[in-house]
Amino acid sequence: MIDQLPHLSQLLKQLQRVPYLASKNIYRVAHHFLSLSPEQMRQFCEVLHTAHRELIKCPRCCAWQERAGNCPFCDSLRRDQTIICVVETWHDLLAVEKTGGYKGAYHVLGAALSPLEGIGPEHLSVAQLRSRLDNGTCREIILACNQTPEGDATASYVARSLDGTEVAISRLARGLPVGATLEYMDKLTLNKALSERRVF
Ligand SMILES: [Zn+2]
Repeated sequence: MIDQLPHLSQLLKQLQRVPYLASKNIYRVAHHFLSLSPEQMRQFCEVLHTAHRELIKCPRCCAWQERAGNCPFCDSLRRDQTIICVVETWHDLLAVEKTGGYKGAYHVLGAALSPLEGIGPEHLSVAQLRSRLDNGTCREIILACNQTPEGDATASYVARSLDGTEVAISRLARGLPVGATLEYMDKLTLNKALSERRVF
């Protein structure tokens, strides 16, 4: 039936490429878009297009920032720039930020090492992290990788890459559920894991 609706078929193909969108939901999402008024559709496309153009990755911490503005983390005088919390993804950064208990800087690696998914060291922003240590401002690195096999491998790799630097390296406290990802952890647990971090 869908073969006879080529425009719908193209829309569904695009939606299938959106990660995190469960395939059973793409028909609902397609229905939602098709039901918008022309003005609502224009607004949606304009916001998406503008955000895509105006948001860039900070050249220091690799978190999203406004193209025409400052990084809310690296350029904030209210944040302690002597401590850097290293996270796998931007979603993990948001999870740490939501705890409200951390006021240092961040570094977003971009992913966790995963040979099965073809993600190797070259996909992580470790060189940028190392270069941030060159000016000697940073005293501590907190490896806030997820408590998964990939997260553990990533934390070990980052720690090894920082060999020879003066910086102290710590890791989130154990006691988090095995397989736990920061994104789905409750604020209290994550806050506790941060404050009770241990030497790596
Ligand atoms: Zn930044």
